[in-house]
Amino acid sequence: MKKPATYLGMEEKRLHPIFAFIICILIIVLLPSNPIEKTISLSRYKILKDKVIVIDPGHGGIDGGTNFEGILEKNINLEIGMILKEKLIKRGATVIMTREVDESLDNDVNSRNRHSEDLKNRVKIIDDNGADIFVSIHVNYIKNPNKLGPIVFYYEGSQKGKELAEKIQTNLNNLSAYKNMDISINYSPATGNYYILRNTLSPGVIIETGFISNELDRKLLLDKGHQDEIAERISKGIIEFFYSHF
Ligand SMILES: [Zn+2]
Repeated sequence: MKKPATYLGMEEKRLHPIFAFIICILIIVLLPSNPIEKTISLSRYKILKDKVIVIDPGHGGIDGGTNFEGILEKNINLEIGMILKEKLIKRGATVIMTREVDESLDNDVNSRNRHSEDLKNRVKIIDDNGADIFVSIHVNYIKNPNKLGPIVFYYEGSQKGKELAEKIQTNLNNLSAYKNMDISINYSPATGNYYILRNTLSPGVIIETGFISNELDRKLLLDKGHQDEIAERISKGIIEFFYSHF
């Protein structure tokens, strides 16, 4: 039987199987381990240089935040906050933490004023450091046990706060744990009249990273890989915010 004509009448040159194998291995080895990293180019990382970012892991010490069967919000907030700190420093930002250990910021004032003293000190850290932005990390609770997923809050009067919230929310809506289970998360950021959003000079957001009242979220919020992805997506949202702004 006559050999069929090859494309353009040229002799087909096939890759030797050994070379093809080596090229496949090189592609796998050289691919970034984190798929999100792929989309952030190196030039975008530079945007964080000279930026001051305050990370505020909510609650701490005597104030556990919300809780469920011994799981305390304050610990999850701190864990995610510390991962985020490392990521932002690695990308050139100056990072200030409102707390790095399990403590409240109330200076041991009497119990009636304890909560407001704590919040005042968080605002003071943000303002005194001339933060370009701040992110306050929290965990949500609601009576409906089916509600899940992260929601970002901003102060209604703050355009920059709104834009930062949108960038972070869009990234968090794509968390792989939900996608892998075909759970669609499609929140828009919400306005919130919270003390820390209302009283700071800098734009900022409160990030409710998930619902402690939901069984799946509870499991995910304690998972190191999920915590890391939350921090990665917050970081990416921050980079996109600065990139679109300055
Ligand atoms: Zn909280």
